[in-house]
Amino acid sequence: MPPQPLTDVQLAAQDAVNEVRAAAAKWASLPIASRVAKMREACQLILARADELAELATLETHKPLAESYSAEVLGVADLFSYWCDRGPALLAPRKGHVPSLEMPGKKATIERLPRGVIGVISPWNFPVSLPMRTLVPALLAGNGVVLKPSECTPQTGAWLVERLRSALGPIVQMLPGAGEAGAALIEAKPDMIVFTGSTRTGRRVAVACAERGIPCELELGGKDCAVVLEGADLERTAAGVAWGILMNAGQNCSGIERVAVQATIAPAFLPSLVAAMERAAPDVCELVTPMQKELVIGHIRDALARGAKLETGGLPDSGGPLRPTLLTGVPRDAPAWADESFGPTAVLEICETDEDCITAANDTRYGLGASVWCRDLNRARSVADRLRSGMVWINNHSFTGALPDLPWVGVGESGTGVTNSPEALMHLTRPRLVVVDSTSAIEPWWYPYGTAMIDLMRTLVARQQSGGLGALLGTLSALKKRNRELAGKG
Ligand code: NAD
Repeated sequence: MPPQPLTDVQLAAQDAVNEVRAAAAKWASLPIASRVAKMREACQLILARADELAELATLETHKPLAESYSAEVLGVADLFSYWCDRGPALLAPRKGHVPSLEMPGKKATIERLPRGVIGVISPWNFPVSLPMRTLVPALLAGNGVVLKPSECTPQTGAWLVERLRSALGPIVQMLPGAGEAGAALIEAKPDMIVFTGSTRTGRRVAVACAERGIPCELELGGKDCAVVLEGADLERTAAGVAWGILMNAGQNCSGIERVAVQATIAPAFLPSLVAAMERAAPDVCELVTPMQKELVIGHIRDALARGAKLETGGLPDSGGPLRPTLLTGVPRDAPAWADESFGPTAVLEICETDEDCITAANDTRYGLGASVWCRDLNRARSVADRLRSGMVWINNHSFTGALPDLPWVGVGESGTGVTNSPEALMHLTRPRLVVVDSTSAIEPWWYPYGTAMIDLMRTLVARQQSGGLGALLGTLSALKKRNRELAGKG
């Protein structure tokens, strides 16, 4: 088949990647102190108009202004100051170990180099904090970034890129559009993709990246479970679990969507949780997309059809907003238990023992966050240790997403990526090994091979089994014989 002409969005993606690649080469060559200074300037430009940013996030996502400040804007200053303070040490070259007896005169250095152009593909639920948690460390490390924000929140994405470009120049570029723009960005072959979004799209992104040999980080969906044990502070736990279910109207990858509560406390806990959810209702916003709302309604409807009991909320009135909803008696194969709902709903299961709670919590293909609620911290910790999740909080849930030192990470179908924390910086850079050899001798492992070479290798293997002076002297003697062999005197 003859090659197809590129579409407008494919051309735009290529232009963006090329422009950023050219600018990033200069940016990467700046001393780290200059990059830090520029990044601090960018932070000031953003913070000077923080109110505008919070209002824009609320406009595009409907989230309460309080949440735009607490979950989006507030973290920006922390992100910049953390990476500007810690980045230079984390990016500094380190010396590598080379054994001095067998390989004398060699110095190894491991440098951390930027990857080049990083394509960041973002969802709509946190249009500031999600892209920024990658943009800030990626740029500081000397990369350029092409940001493809969600088609539902293009203005917030454009606003951020405009401020960053004012301070940093064309090392950041935005590519607007929906899924085809994300696909075009991958086709334009940036040096890495950091994708945050649904598990379904994440799989397609992983395949597209693999076909082009592009490394990718995937931060995907979740189905977090809160485990509530005997000995939990019931009022505080109800308030915390209600927030975990309803924050951002449940459009939170680590929102609580399942609750496993121990039978002995269920009669007291369930009404407390229902009351806390009902109290929160005025602060729960409408979902961002009608499609998402339909999916959540489908989960509730299906659970009810399978005999689940509605503890609060339920199907919305025609055209009305989704209400905070809690269901009990939901079978484990129902979508409301098994699939990500991403709305202000949760299912609650009553379990007898700690073991039953663990089994319920781990009964998911996802593995982003989980929490254990109990005043006995030893007991909570031993349950937490057996939960299969990238993050586990004890007596709290999910509040760490904007803390730059703490990794945000999942297992299973929640993805293979890590954002925030020094671990994320390691992924946004590549190690480069530089070795300098200042010796002039022919190496004992070079040609020609001979019997002394084999003896030397045997001596080295034996030395790995038993160290000590005898082994050292044996190695020195074997090396000497091998050098004589290489010199043709063996
Ligand atoms: P989505 O997967 O529909 O879209 C995410 C992004 O991918 C959007 O920018 C979209 O335009 C783009 N996209 C769509 N098709 C694409 C393709 N073929 N190639 C490349 N890009 C493509 O997700 P969403 O509905 O915007 O966001 C909600 C999902 O994000 C939920 O599943 C939620 O759990 C997840 N999420 C995960 C995290 C995390 O850190 N693990 C954080 C926030 C949201």
